[in-house]
Amino acid sequence: MTRVLVVEDDPQLVRALKINLQARKFEVVEAGDGATALRLAAARTPDAILLDLGLPDMDGVEVIRGVRGRSHVPILVLSARHTSEEKIRALDAGADDYVTKPFSMDELLARLRAATRRREAPASPAGIPGIATDEFTIDLAARKVVRGGRTVRLTPTEWHLLELLIARPGHLVSQRRLLLEVWGPAYSEHTNYLRVYMAQLRRKLEANPSHPRYLITEPGMGYRFEP
Ligand code: CA
Repeated sequence: MTRVLVVEDDPQLVRALKINLQARKFEVVEAGDGATALRLAAARTPDAILLDLGLPDMDGVEVIRGVRGRSHVPILVLSARHTSEEKIRALDAGADDYVTKPFSMDELLARLRAATRRREAPASPAGIPGIATDEFTIDLAARKVVRGGRTVRLTPTEWHLLELLIARPGHLVSQRRLLLEVWGPAYSEHTNYLRVYMAQLRRKLEANPSHPRYLITEPGMGYRFEP
């Protein structure tokens, strides 16, 4: 049975989540504040955490940092905040995904299932010899991309970006993280670089670059490699 720690201070939402999760055979552990969440995350070793960012005693991002100090448990943020900065802070702190309130239970459960599936099959860059899609194949060891039988030439910057995205298939990687890793701290606001380089990657890898199938933009947030 999958054990989910629900960290939320709105009793009505907690009740709705509990009914829906239990109906789908999840075991639910509740925490109404950040301190309780940190204690239960350690004591009950949940398989996933649903985390509200606006908690009475601390910022939910602090909970993410506290949990990440000792666990890779999937964390799905329930955010009432509409600014992408808040969500990016949460993702950068180590959250796996987010849903914006109000959300549908179906969407939440789909994201939760996806997060726990990824947990069962962890994607470590070292463990992936390569990626094969219907459009192209990537050989990480040989640093080689082949599309339609031909080797695709990537610049070192394009390669670096692609590597970061394919390391966590299906996962949103924030603009900030990509900029920090590829260009460095001085460039963390230069989202225009990402637009330019992602467009180049799509031209090289996608059948229809203006309607990408594999290199997906999450507007205002970041990018995702969808295998
Ligand atoms: Ca709240």
